[in-house]
Amino acid sequence: MDQQGESRFAYRAAPPGVVPYYLAVEVTAVALLLLAVPATEPAPREWRFFAVLLASAVAQTELSAKAERMRRFLARNPHVSVASVWFFAAALVLPAVLAAVLTVLVYGHLWLRTAGGVPGSRVYRATCSAATYVITVFAAGSVAAVAGPVAAAGAFALVNTLLVMIGFKLHDPGRPFLSLAGSLSENLLDAATLCLGLAVAALLPDRPWLVPLLVLPVVLLHRGELGRRLELRARDPKTGLLAIAEWRARAEAELGRAAGAGGDCGILMLDLDHFKRVNDTYGHLAGDDVLRAVADAVRHEVRVYDSVGRFGGEEFVVLLPGIGRVHSVAVAERIRDAVAALAVVAADGTRITGLSVSIGVAVHPAAGRGVDEVLGAADKAVYAAKKAGRDRVCVSH
Ligand code: GH3
Ligand code: MG
Ligand code: MG
Repeated sequence: MDQQGESRFAYRAAPPGVVPYYLAVEVTAVALLLLAVPATEPAPREWRFFAVLLASAVAQTELSAKAERMRRFLARNPHVSVASVWFFAAALVLPAVLAAVLTVLVYGHLWLRTAGGVPGSRVYRATCSAATYVITVFAAGSVAAVAGPVAAAGAFALVNTLLVMIGFKLHDPGRPFLSLAGSLSENLLDAATLCLGLAVAALLPDRPWLVPLLVLPVVLLHRGELGRRLELRARDPKTGLLAIAEWRARAEAELGRAAGAGGDCGILMLDLDHFKRVNDTYGHLAGDDVLRAVADAVRHEVRVYDSVGRFGGEEFVVLLPGIGRVHSVAVAERIRDAVAALAVVAADGTRITGLSVSIGVAVHPAAGRGVDEVLGAADKAVYAAKKAGRDRVCVSH
């Protein structure tokens, strides 16, 4: 069914197993709250902590709303929330019920301010996420009472990650469980978030007026994560090379710089030889393994500040700032040798060798001023290399 056309409240869109799991998480969160209410009589200073945390969290959400909408849009598993700074601090300094209420209020505000227009952001998911945080806050608060704040941080990370991973697994049963744990940088962001939460909790009793100052680092931490997402998006997912739009933007900037400074800039265009045969003989998945291996080989042969992009299919482009004709040809020959030396082991164990590549070289400004002109010249040189028998480097004239 069309995602856009679905109601935001539509449970029926959820895969089997998801609804019982969500209900179990929500019932657990409500039960924990109800059990804890009778034993709760917050002291006046706890109400002050609550007010400071709520005000800081609301301010941070407002400052982060735009970036968070963007981040949710880009992330496949947006399970990191920097709002955990406030949730975790609340778990450390507030009675469980107040911490849970703060969590629900902050999460609700976050959802209202960021969910609009983001596909897949449905009320039933948001409710379950809020319930997940409530359970996490209860767990962290209980551990803090017996084992201190550092152990509580561990409990917060563990309980939250596990609950989120189970939810994702039910949504996407084909994915291996451990792959749902998030990337290293996501987990580092989690850890940084919990460190800030600890700092907030440490400041609250004696210097609560300093807590709002921590809103700014939290906002910046969040923006840093968005920047990383945007960077990932600039890459071709199959090979990890630059996506063509990003490569082109870099090439335009570099040619502009070279034109101003009067320098050269080499552009290589690569087209694998007889790649259809690779697909026909070994299958498309093995073909993809070959593409990844070639991409790695090309990256290995150039400097860190050269830009390698996937032009499309089995064609790649390389930007060599400051490099003239002679050196560009030398780099192209090195790449050709590296591709010829590849022995790619496909997932099923098949060894694929005998690969070759045709490379066209064109240099700015001799071959043209703009990216399209230079690329066009490199493309013509590729064609000449193919015509001359493949597995060779040709230079544009
Ligand atoms: P030539 O030497 O003339 O370049 O021969 P070729 O077989 O490489 O011919 P061509 O460049 O026309 O074909 C490219 C093939 O690459 C066609 C397409 O099936 C395959 N291909 C394009 N993108 C992918 C991909 O992402 N994965 C795989 N496995 N194959 C791809
Ligand atoms: Mg091609
Ligand atoms: Mg080809």
